[in-house]
Amino acid sequence: MSKVKINEDFCIGCGACESICPNVFRLENGKAKVIAEECKDCNCQEVAESCPVNAILVEE
Ligand code: SF4
Repeated sequence: MSKVKINEDFCIGCGACESICPNVFRLENGKAKVIAEECKDCNCQEVAESCPVNAILVEE
């Protein structure tokens, strides 16, 4: 299982992370937040690669 962080300074609120892993990411006030301690039911590495501004950091 991996831990996920978001650099909110970079996030543009596109929603890609939330659409792929809604159990881990949620948009609030135009910024993505991590709402789960760990990424286990979805592919957070894929999410990190899908983020257009590389705001998502996945620690294995
Ligand atoms: S994919 Fe990246 S830019 Fe888009 S909402 Fe998520 S963290 Fe923000």
